Amino acid sequence: MWAHQIADAVKSGKISAKEVLQEYLERIQRLEPRVHAFLRLNPRAQAEAEAVEKRLEAGEALPLAGVPVAVKDNLCTRGLETTCASRILEGFVPPYDATVITRLRQAGAVVLGKTNLDEFAMGSSTEYSAFGPTRNPWDLERVPGGTSGGSAAAVAANLAPLALGTDTGGSVRQPAALCGVYGFKPTYGRISRYGVVAHASSLDQVGTMARSLEDLALLTDAISGPDALDATSLPLEPQFQRALTEPAELTVGIVREAFASGNSEGVSAACENFRQVLQRCGVRFVEVSVPSLRYALATYYLVDTSEISSNLARYDGTLYGLRIAGADVTETMMRSREAGLGPEVKRRILMGTFALSSGYYEAYYGKALRARAKLRADFDAAFARADVLLTPTSPTPAFRLGEKLSDPLSMYLADIDTVAVNLAGLPALSIPSGFEEGLPVGVQLMARPVQDERLFTLAKAFEDATEQAFLQVAPLS
Ligand code: GLN
Repeated sequence: MWAHQIADAVKSGKISAKEVLQEYLERIQRLEPRVHAFLRLNPRAQAEAEAVEKRLEAGEALPLAGVPVAVKDNLCTRGLETTCASRILEGFVPPYDATVITRLRQAGAVVLGKTNLDEFAMGSSTEYSAFGPTRNPWDLERVPGGTSGGSAAAVAANLAPLALGTDTGGSVRQPAALCGVYGFKPTYGRISRYGVVAHASSLDQVGTMARSLEDLALLTDAISGPDALDATSLPLEPQFQRALTEPAELTVGIVREAFASGNSEGVSAACENFRQVLQRCGVRFVEVSVPSLRYALATYYLVDTSEISSNLARYDGTLYGLRIAGADVTETMMRSREAGLGPEVKRRILMGTFALSSGYYEAYYGKALRARAKLRADFDAAFARADVLLTPTSPTPAFRLGEKLSDPLSMYLADIDTVAVNLAGLPALSIPSGFEEGLPVGVQLMARPVQDERLFTLAKAFEDATEQAFLQVAPLS
């Protein structure tokens, strides 16, 4: 059943929220040992499902009534351990809910559990989790992508109908593409960051995942919108479900630089098929150029690591999680960080600290900020010619476990198509659009800031025209 069907069935009393939960828990029990999408399940899920039934009886309108949602483990959940897949936060139990969690609960959803990720959402494969990798449900020898790999795998294997992730440089969209589900990253500010563990604050956004657009829109409407607790949130109400009924009379710009080289055959073919299908629906296509796209990855890894070096300074063995006492404060800090943080997190703290250090600041961080501004200007120019832009989400389908672990640069290159969106603050959607040798492939659409809903309008035209051919549950039997 789709998530919207679950909500309808629970609301009309055809099935209870508890029964829905039971079905998902049984599926998880059967399949999760092979996938490892979750770090932990929510021990209070049963009680939460019962509470939903009481609220329905009391006449509350609950758009996500009884729908189980899997939540990435860098979103604070009150009373439920939140580790960011890091040893340093092991045992950390947040005293409050992130705004997105509060909104899920208000809408009647049931938090099913916390999903696996690369430590502090740094990576592209979920292999940098301190608690073991997640496997791709389409091929258990391959990665699910990252960093929201647990959320993407959970939705792909239907261990949860819906999931939340976070996207700092592609962490919702890239795993969504590699697992064959929808993944949406909104305009910076449309979803509250309150209670999201910070990675790079000028890039971080919560994003949504589902196996159909109707489900994705239902979830996105429920959690988006202004929040007084996040000063960067925008005063805009979400209209995602409504966008599914709008006519797709739009012009799509194919971004030349993203097709120049490096894409696998199946990825190129899926993009071309996407274009042909939508052209038959009356969508216009033009070619556009975003020249500074070639500098996006280098720019991203300077901005990202600089913000990391500052944000992660708070894990000092004093306030949260792991503390290994030394002779004095400095030694306690050094020991706790040495033992608590993994190699990729340390690498980024070092790179960011270097980029920000005196004498280098202008050459690295300052220059990256100027490149970021140029990228925004180039996108503005492209959007003068097209309403929406198209690129692949990832240059290849899922790679093998271990394949990129010894080469950080090749891991970073997995984000080549996604990071520019975060630098420019744009909304983007990864759409399941085909398969290459049995592995899912995604196409990425980007829109101007705050025109997020257009992505849903256009994607719906594709979903309808292809009769949902690409929306499948991974064949884990
Ligand atoms: N893969 C990118 C990185 O490692 C993006 C991460 C993310 O979006 N959280 O930084």
